[in-house]
Amino acid sequence: MSAKLIKGTEIREAILEEITSKVTQIKKKHGVVPGLVTILVGENPASISYVTLKIKTAHRVGFEEIQDTQPIDISEADLLALIDKYNKDERINGILVQLPLPKHINEKKVLNAIDPDKDVDGFHPVNVGRLMIGGDEIKFPPCTPAGIQEMIVRAGVETKGAEVVVVGRSNIVGKPIANMMLQKGVGANSTVTIVHTGTKNLDEHCKRADILIVAAGVPNLVKPEWIKPGACVIDVGVNRVGEKISEKTGKKIAVLKGDVDFEAAKDIAGYITPVPGGVGPMTITMLMLNTLKSLQFKLNIVE
Ligand code: NAP
Repeated sequence: MSAKLIKGTEIREAILEEITSKVTQIKKKHGVVPGLVTILVGENPASISYVTLKIKTAHRVGFEEIQDTQPIDISEADLLALIDKYNKDERINGILVQLPLPKHINEKKVLNAIDPDKDVDGFHPVNVGRLMIGGDEIKFPPCTPAGIQEMIVRAGVETKGAEVVVVGRSNIVGKPIANMMLQKGVGANSTVTIVHTGTKNLDEHCKRADILIVAAGVPNLVKPEWIKPGACVIDVGVNRVGEKISEKTGKKIAVLKGDVDFEAAKDIAGYITPVPGGVGPMTITMLMLNTLKSLQFKLNIVE
């Protein structure tokens, strides 16, 4: 293997340490800590496990965390009233609504009801607009793209003038990371191409990339011959391709594969993220960072 592995698990630890130390300083000076509420509707096991991990991480970095679980038959009006309550709650800096919501509730309406200054997921149209404008306007970059950019920066990969190719144009990964990489500024200033299912000659675009970011959700979509030697390859894809017995717990667990043929790509790329253990751990980490930032904005703490 010639590529340098960019491990999200290691970067996560470093960032969580930094957050913990800043929380301690703020608590000492201002007597407050960031407050994060997670609203969970119903008992979907996958949602419960995501929420549990978010709460556990928030607790670890010293936040005040509230897990607000609501019955599956809560009305849309009651859920909107709950969000309004947390919008007005001075202790709360970040509001998360765990998706998916039950079918009788309009998800868009609920997410748009969150105060944009507490929207630490960064999905509110106001925050999407702020991201598009760039610079000082950006408050809460969406967490997975923010994690990707942080990994590229911490790996020491040059972004200024780099050819970045993003595979996928979703609102949660492809479009925002493309937008972030083209902004003028540190960890960006790149020339960006977005490719998707309507693109002709996908391979030709990928071959040009100094930084290749793949978020398609198709196992092994990117072949080794599509990778420019020495390129930085960020594999966002998480695809369940089977099951195995965990050596640690003896329980059945999913076998996960990325969108890049890792085994072959690692001998061609200069940098590469593994799956699992690459981009995955960064999302919740950046959620914590956004929640800290939310309190810092409120207290006018400039870094
Ligand atoms: P998505 O909403 O399904 O979007 C996938 C995008 O990839 C679409 O724009 C689609 O193009 C494009 N695409 C699919 N197949 C393609 C192909 N054969 N050639 C070219 N483009 C293709 O997915 P997403 O939410 O962005 O997620 C993408 C992957 O990242 C998934 O595996 C997901 O599990 C993973 N993910 C991981 C994290 C994390 O690790 N924290 C977070 C989010 C997502 P069209 O628009 O033309 O359909």
